[in-house]
Amino acid sequence: MSETDAFLLKVTDLHFGWGQEPDFLIVDDFSMQRGSHVFLEGPSGSGKSTLLGMIAGVLTPRSGEISMNGKRLDALSMSERDKLRADSMGVIFQLFNLLPYLSMIDNVLLPCRFSSKRRKNVLGKADSLEDEARRLLTRLGLPTEMHTRKVSNLSVGQQQRVAAARAFIGSPDLIIADEPTSSVDTAARDAFLALLMEEASATNAGLLFVSHDRSLASAFQTQVSLTDLNTAKKETA
Ligand code: ADP
Ligand code: MG
Repeated sequence: MSETDAFLLKVTDLHFGWGQEPDFLIVDDFSMQRGSHVFLEGPSGSGKSTLLGMIAGVLTPRSGEISMNGKRLDALSMSERDKLRADSMGVIFQLFNLLPYLSMIDNVLLPCRFSSKRRKNVLGKADSLEDEARRLLTRLGLPTEMHTRKVSNLSVGQQQRVAAARAFIGSPDLIIADEPTSSVDTAARDAFLALLMEEASATNAGLLFVSHDRSLASAFQTQVSLTDLNTAKKETA
């Protein structure tokens, strides 16, 4: 096994800038072990979502390497990156990005539409895709009678739980959560975080949780400050 293969995620000498602007984000070294829970903190506008976008393969760095499970993401074509993301990553967006005209269950099942690997992972342990969607929704605190409801009229806390169930379905290797708790109260936030960690541990998924809220950091094994990580900021400061 090469050194890179020991990591779930490895970012090396990454440079990113917008349009013709100088480099805005330079990350010399950032890595995650398989199954680890990492808290990435940084003030609003510091580039957290930008870094996540590159890790998820929707933004392209100017230079540098991003590897997942030892596979170079930056060397892949756009469609190969889409496939890798669908197969191996569950993303919880800040605004959740649920499809309002679909039910809770159908939102949760979306990754299984795009990835045969995720479908197979589900069918390896559950009787049907729908059974697994319902199990996850229930585990995340959404009662059975709600599961067929359209998601358009849900509270923020409920949307958050549907988005989490969608991220976890089919056991992706990496769960990326981009400030999912920024618009809920403290008690709901802590309960949600505990559920995320439990489910990540149960499936041995890596969890990369991003927030500007430092008070969440102590719940995590590893804490990283994007401001410290980003050497581009230091050069211009
Ligand atoms: P964070 O997630 O830490 O709040 P972002 O990664 O969203 O920060 O944004 C980092 C910086 O990049 C901000 O200054 C933001 O204005 C800028 N930015 C974000 N998206 C774009 C874009 N599409 N084009 C140009 N600049 C952008
Ligand atoms: Mg952001």
